[in-house]
Amino acid sequence: MNSIPFPKRRVNRAVALAQLSILERAYPDAATALIYHSPFELLIAVILSAQCTDARVNLTTPQLFARYPTPQALGAAHGADVERLVKSCGFYRMKAKHIVSASRDLVKRFGGEVPATREALESLAGVGRKTASVVLAVAFQEPAFAVDTHVFRVAHRLGLTTGTTPAGVERDVTALLPRERWTAAHHWLILHGRAICKAPMPQCSRCPVSELCPSAKIVAKTAAGRNRKGVPAAAVRRSAPHV
Ligand code: SF4
Repeated sequence: MNSIPFPKRRVNRAVALAQLSILERAYPDAATALIYHSPFELLIAVILSAQCTDARVNLTTPQLFARYPTPQALGAAHGADVERLVKSCGFYRMKAKHIVSASRDLVKRFGGEVPATREALESLAGVGRKTASVVLAVAFQEPAFAVDTHVFRVAHRLGLTTGTTPAGVERDVTALLPRERWTAAHHWLILHGRAICKAPMPQCSRCPVSELCPSAKIVAKTAAGRNRKGVPAAAVRRSAPHV
């Protein structure tokens, strides 16, 4: 949910680097919140996490992997049983189909192992650029900058990008940083988006980057306009549209 207009221009490089440096200090232990014990479990968890919280995925995967612990087992599973196990993650029919199909492909084409290249990962069912980036970064420590809804929103609010697509945001943000910091930057922006720079109404008064953020004034102006119209904050939060 985001009803706050994004800044129309990017901040300059010095400001962008200063913002990222503050976020790095604010989130020094940034890492994925998904619980996994192997590249296979991470891949399946990331596929399930689309349009779903990591916390919900973490509640779902223990039962899923207890029943289907390997690509061989999950690839041979009945779709209806997998649907039942992943139902709480949303879009469960499609996700069940994807994780069974991806598991079959891991067995048939990759010897039961998760491949460590973007091209191979993106050839699996349910795996797009974002999912492949997370798997490459987290499971294989390859530099990658995955753009999810939090990263897209926070990067725009900070003025790090004016990209209209995830690829555009990725291009703008990665151009600011050396490759070895791409993965950490992805985590800084996600954690900041979840904790403070939330979708419907960012909490700028708590934000360590507020003095450098071009959205702080936009947020204040938007909030003041709503107050003049007498829109209760809770109603504003409920009605704001998605990013
Ligand atoms: S100042 Fe406000 S809009 Fe800018 S990053 Fe912080 S919370 Fe988000």
